[in-house]
Amino acid sequence: MTSLDELPIRDDLRGKSPYGAPQQTVPVALNVNENTHPIPEDVAHDIIARVAAAILHLNRYPDREFTELRRSLAEYLGHGLEAAQIWAANGSNEVLQHILQAYGGPGRVALGFSPTYSMYGLLASGTGTGWIMAARDDEFEVSTETAVRAVQEHDPDVVLLCAPNNPTGTPLALDTIRAVADAARGVVVVDEAYFEFAEPGTPSALTLLEGRPRLLVSRTMSKAFAFAGARVGYLAGDPAAIDALRLVRLPYHLSALTQAAALGALAHSSEMLAMVDEIRGQRERISAELSRLGFHPYRSGSNFVLFGGVDEPHAVFEALLERGILIREIGIPGHLRVTAGTEAETSAFLEAIALFAPERPNRIAV
Ligand SMILES: *Cc1c(COP(=O)(O)O)cnc(C)c1O
Repeated sequence: MTSLDELPIRDDLRGKSPYGAPQQTVPVALNVNENTHPIPEDVAHDIIARVAAAILHLNRYPDREFTELRRSLAEYLGHGLEAAQIWAANGSNEVLQHILQAYGGPGRVALGFSPTYSMYGLLASGTGTGWIMAARDDEFEVSTETAVRAVQEHDPDVVLLCAPNNPTGTPLALDTIRAVADAARGVVVVDEAYFEFAEPGTPSALTLLEGRPRLLVSRTMSKAFAFAGARVGYLAGDPAAIDALRLVRLPYHLSALTQAAALGALAHSSEMLAMVDEIRGQRERISAELSRLGFHPYRSGSNFVLFGGVDEPHAVFEALLERGILIREIGIPGHLRVTAGTEAETSAFLEAIALFAPERPNRIAV
């Protein structure tokens, strides 16, 4: 086989690695922040009926403007949003790619606060956008002062605020988002992939959209909505800012099957989101138990917990995998990340990780 080095690949892609969360079939998969509860069967039947009806028309291209889906997403988000303020694509990764294609590109830069979602850097490189990683404060928090200082220093074309942040779980205060939106010259994207897992009553960046035409708020059906396999992400923002994305998307990018399935899921949003409280409870349980065991879990507004105090993360990762439990190494020394699963999955993780606890007098050496 030819190696990448021998191919006439773009110079700026040489030496880069693709997104690579391991995909393994294990009894307890807690590595990519999916909702581990399956879709309720009655919802599945409604989705099947809608997809079946769409199949009869697959000889035709789908609605390029996915009008009905936009209307349904606007209704789900509330906040008085209308269809013209909504965009959607095959996962919020594609939504973010559209933003970088339209507002980033060669000679332009995007700014994020490291460590953050690994796809931001990959999407930046794929679109020829420069990628600047500003530092976070202690405990992976980002204060308003830190955020605004970075924006003033780097004057980015695109700011990517992950709220709450992956892989740390850290919530981001609405005041900080507002200050960044008001300080930035470029577009400011608030990635609310995990918003539904925030403490009830937490205000969304959607509340800041009015009067801020360069602010974009992205969401996904992949996490709380238990729809990762369907690939549906979406965005709310000013109609003009969204119109620009039509310049870069591929025509008919959302298939008729995707649109039908998403409409089916949205028609049952409360059932689809029924497990969110339970998952939040498991997240709290993980944090409390990891603290008790002497690890250092970080504040989380998501469905996962980052924890420090792990002497040998790779060995612990492997030891858990041997027990059928897949969690995530995220490249921060001494740290691992785990998704809150069902009660049984969470118990399996907690029992296994306890074997490696700092507070355990004769813990298993790895
Ligand atoms: C999982 C995740 C997404 C969602 O990606 P999809 O393409 O919608 O599946 C987006 N942003 C962050 C920070 C994530 O962790």
